Amino acid sequence: MRLSEVRGQPSTVLLLRRLAIRGRLPSALLFEGPPGCGRRTLALALAQAILCEHPVEGDSCGECASCRLAEQGDHPDIVQSHHDSQPLPTADEWRKRGYDGYSDWIRREIGEQAFVSTLLGRGRVFIIHSVDRLHPAAANGLLKALEEPPAGVRFLLTTEQSAAVMSTIRSRSQRYRLQPLDGDTVAALLIRHGIPSSEAHRRAGASDGGHRGCWSPLPAVPLTALRRLATEGFRSEWVAECVAALPTIVPPEADAAGQSLAAVHRQVVRRWLRMLVRELRQDLPGPDPLVPERLLRCQALERDLQLNIQPRLVLEALGVGTLEAQLRR
Ligand SMILES: [Zn+2]
Repeated sequence: MRLSEVRGQPSTVLLLRRLAIRGRLPSALLFEGPPGCGRRTLALALAQAILCEHPVEGDSCGECASCRLAEQGDHPDIVQSHHDSQPLPTADEWRKRGYDGYSDWIRREIGEQAFVSTLLGRGRVFIIHSVDRLHPAAANGLLKALEEPPAGVRFLLTTEQSAAVMSTIRSRSQRYRLQPLDGDTVAALLIRHGIPSSEAHRRAGASDGGHRGCWSPLPAVPLTALRRLATEGFRSEWVAECVAALPTIVPPEADAAGQSLAAVHRQVVRRWLRMLVRELRQDLPGPDPLVPERLLRCQALERDLQLNIQPRLVLEALGVGTLEAQLRR
């Protein structure tokens, strides 16, 4: 993919293209952003631009032999680490591929190979996803290469939170903060991949700043119970109905990313609150004077979820807050 085709990150793309035109791209770049905001896509598009034989204004041409290999995912000079949206190979699978495990792969394929000359001659790009989750042994292998970056080698690192990245790695890379994708961008992405428009917009409406989790149909949302809690007040059976709709196992995609069930629940309830906000907004402007207060309460509860407050308590607070608001009137 060309940089100009990357969605949702226009200012970062512009900056990277300007740096590329002036030959000033740093040897290590750290892309920080929420899950599904396009960190991997941007890294791949930049790698393609770096290795392109006939770059056009800091972007790849999309037509040369190098670009074709990059687009097919076969470029010998683009080495990409495991991505957390795919399940991690098992110990057996690693052994079959000749490695002791993921750390060994990083140490040998990235730490050591960075010092070997390029295969096609224009340079080499190593893309390392979720660099904050690297085992210390793997991180140290990478660090060695970052300390004295071999000529023509670039490291594109990605993370959800740069604060979680080893400070020695962070200080040797230039950080670029990617923006969460808005609903329209997520919907456009889903539509481009063949999901019908109305369904794409429905899923995008519940998205969390990225496309992650939007590729499969949304699980049932207890919207009626949520709406009643927000408008009529606390009733334990409505809370129970919502709690019963929470997933009982960690979905494979979240499991691969190392998420716990509690974290999945918080994410699901945050989505519900966003959908509820969309519903409640439709009542604006209207005769009910409590609508703005309900919207503010949903936003406050979303913040509570970020503080690791239990989803069940948040759901209860949704109803109790409604009662309080009604009593005050
Ligand atoms: Zn090209």
